[in-house]
Amino acid sequence: MRCDTAGVIAGVRRAAEAVAAHRDELVDLDKAIGDGDHGENLKRGFGFVVDALDSSTFDTPGAVLKMVATTLISKVGGASGPLYGTAFLRAATLAGEAPEIDVVAALQAALGGIVDRGKAVVGDKTIVDALAPAVEAGLGGATLAGIADAADEGAASTVALVARKGRASYLGQRSAGHLDPGARSTAIMLRAFAGGGS
Ligand code: ADP
Ligand code: MG
Ligand code: MG
Repeated sequence: MRCDTAGVIAGVRRAAEAVAAHRDELVDLDKAIGDGDHGENLKRGFGFVVDALDSSTFDTPGAVLKMVATTLISKVGGASGPLYGTAFLRAATLAGEAPEIDVVAALQAALGGIVDRGKAVVGDKTIVDALAPAVEAGLGGATLAGIADAADEGAASTVALVARKGRASYLGQRSAGHLDPGARSTAIMLRAFAGGGS
């Protein structure tokens, strides 16, 4: 499925709203197995993204995605800022100057960026556990809602897992029994991008 500049802007705005609405949930998830900053980091970062959308014009999906990438990389600390930033940067690079993006190809590029940067595989209890099944669903022809469903299921699967990457991995076995904050934020963003509630 394809998405033009206005569609990408609207989707990013919905994702920013959803991240803000789920800020406390993401903070609580990160308090359980991390340092408790995930919800605030993302809310702040996407706040700067919305400021940029409000104050500038963007002519292509690639320009929007590149602004999101550079904003997240420069404004969001911790593991997730550079990871999500790299994801958006890869999607932006793929988009180039084209007037539309292929959403599934963009998600696949984003996943490639996160894996290259963070070296996580499915089962490590990270963002990858939500994004990889979402990409797989998209490649299999799922709708955007179906892609978001796959991300939800993938995120839910992290509860049972022991973390092998990131701060939660310091807890070893004690990381099991908790939903991974990054997998959850990925699912929230994809649901919002798809246009549904989360
Ligand atoms: P920090 O742990 O530095 O405070 P955040 O709280 O913002 O960073 O983000 C934590 C999330 O980052 C984790 O829940 C996990 O999903 C994700 N994450 C951590 N390391 C990796 C990695 N190597 N690959 C993919 N995702 C990761
Ligand atoms: Mg954290
Ligand atoms: Mg932190």
